[in-house]
Amino acid sequence: MTAYFTFHGALNYFLPRSQRHTTIAHPFDWRASVKDMLESLGPPHPEVALIVVNGISVNFDYIVQPGDKIALYPDFDAVDLSPKIALVPPYSGRMRFILDTHLGRLEAYLRMMGFDTLYRNDYDDDELARISDEEKRILLTRDIGLLKRGRVMYGYFVRNTESRARLLEINQRYRLVDHLDPFRYCMKCNGLLMPVEKSAILDKIHPRTAENFDAFHQCQACQQVYWKGSHYDKMASLLDDVINSG
Ligand SMILES: [Zn+2]
Repeated sequence: MTAYFTFHGALNYFLPRSQRHTTIAHPFDWRASVKDMLESLGPPHPEVALIVVNGISVNFDYIVQPGDKIALYPDFDAVDLSPKIALVPPYSGRMRFILDTHLGRLEAYLRMMGFDTLYRNDYDDDELARISDEEKRILLTRDIGLLKRGRVMYGYFVRNTESRARLLEINQRYRLVDHLDPFRYCMKCNGLLMPVEKSAILDKIHPRTAENFDAFHQCQACQQVYWKGSHYDKMASLLDDVINSG
């Protein structure tokens, strides 16, 4: 028995070079869901947004039949089809993230842009999958195997290896710039920031900063103080890069 898989767009990243942008004739002699079979070929299921079998939209549980022609898309809007089945419920509410241990520094950028982002350098794979599932956080990772875990519903494999390039990549995937809300989360600890009177934090800032700035925010968890000085300039230049790349 053979099924024919065609992976579109960014899903080709996960295939061996010789199989990219081709139709893969995949022999099988066991009963398997399209989810299991597509993952055995390479891509992790959270990166697949739409599966079309012989012209019909199906879900992950579809059992592959001999001769099936299976098209897989990273983008739900890639093809016009009716009806079209969403593989997971649409993500609702403001995007929240959890990062694996290889993505350090990215957490500060995401928080700086106003996204609730969990990161610890000692999370293990079980914790990452569990927290992502329980708190409906988008799991960003460099571990394809982790994304293939059944509990992971929302996730993305970060291709780039440099922090800024990673942020640009994640912006392209999730349109972060459309949802910016700076001075919302602490870059250091993800605590909530609140406006604070200058008089209350005078002992935490340089006298020159006190002279030059009037609006301050403070982390409710670690007490770190933020203002539209160096933090803000750094962020503004970063956001320029992100916006111009989008
Ligand atoms: Zn903090």
